[in-house]
Amino acid sequence: MSPKNKCWSRRDFLKTFGITSAGSLLVPAAHLAEAADNTLQVPQRPFGRTGANVSVLSLGGMFNIASNQMLMKQAMNWGVTYWDTADCYQRGSENGIGKYFKKYPEDRKRVFLVTKSDARTAKGMTKLLDRSLEKMKTSYIDLYFVHGIDSIDELDESTKTWAEKTKAAGKIRFFGFSTHSNMAECMLAAAGLGWIDGIMMTYNYRLMHTDRMKRAVDACVKAGIGLTAMKTQGGGSVKTNTDTELKMAGRFLQKGFTDAQAKLMAVWQNPDIASICSQMPNMTILKANVAAALNRTDLSVKDTEFLHRYACETHSDYCAGCTKICESTVEMDVPIGDVMRYLMYYRSYGELDYAAAQFKTIPENIRLQMVNLDYSLAEQRCPQKMAIGTLMKEAVDTFHI
Ligand code: SF4
Repeated sequence: MSPKNKCWSRRDFLKTFGITSAGSLLVPAAHLAEAADNTLQVPQRPFGRTGANVSVLSLGGMFNIASNQMLMKQAMNWGVTYWDTADCYQRGSENGIGKYFKKYPEDRKRVFLVTKSDARTAKGMTKLLDRSLEKMKTSYIDLYFVHGIDSIDELDESTKTWAEKTKAAGKIRFFGFSTHSNMAECMLAAAGLGWIDGIMMTYNYRLMHTDRMKRAVDACVKAGIGLTAMKTQGGGSVKTNTDTELKMAGRFLQKGFTDAQAKLMAVWQNPDIASICSQMPNMTILKANVAAALNRTDLSVKDTEFLHRYACETHSDYCAGCTKICESTVEMDVPIGDVMRYLMYYRSYGELDYAAAQFKTIPENIRLQMVNLDYSLAEQRCPQKMAIGTLMKEAVDTFHI
């Protein structure tokens, strides 16, 4: 059977080329060998105008299992010193980091530590920050984020006052927010505030070339805001196996890297992005990502074209997070963008339990009603032309409300 045969799946293709599947991240042998050399260090970039330099790869994820203590040590050896977590991450992410710092207190000052708060009030943020400090066995956080804002209106003067006071108390060095929805709008507005040090936003080969996102990045750079990209694999709600994807995977493998690594490299090609936050739950993925960060080969114009063509072919599988467009057209407050993201956690990362737990945070009355609502206007307006109604039903079926 030829790779051109449409019946070939991505799995068949990779198996035939003698590569063991590990999710979507695979590591060519030469780069594994390179990454196994502890003398090599992941490069660093300045984080906006904070004066801090950060590793271009940020260790994101959930680390309270024994093997992750080893993983964190190895990340340090390779210079992956920007660590990202959140108070709300499941499986004791912050506790795992705390265990690590208890064992290796000397590493604390080498790590640029980020955590996040779901609270929006000063009282709530103080409570969560103190809990994070306690769990992570540290007296300060390098960068503290308000977690997952959809609109800049979620921050106000009281947030600014809280950030200033908490910095003055030495509990945080820098302050900002993360955003998965309406990213460009949040970034543009933040650039005008004058008190945001850093932003972590959904940013990948699908979104980075849009005018909106380019304008948002430029504004943040001018305002001195440090930028961290997340969701860089551009995973969608539906798994894909297009001819272009297979050809793209083959092309990148011939050049010595995987398509997953190429997607990271595409983002690093923008020097305005200080770091990529990537969930790295095992050593295979850590090695693959470190190898990509160490790679000194730029993607060619043709490589970028392949990524672009693939993005165009699969656009209706990818939610761009522009929730202002769709959510107001539906009768109830269905968090369409969040539901799409939970489907992505499941479809692209295989995180069924986590995705289902997140889905269950949606109020029960909405979960029970959401399959019966009319999504036709939302679908008409959706720039990605997503089958929103079908996907909402799929979420309900998958996560068993
Ligand atoms: S479903 Fe469509 S309109 Fe809604 S957030 Fe996703 S891409 Fe934007």
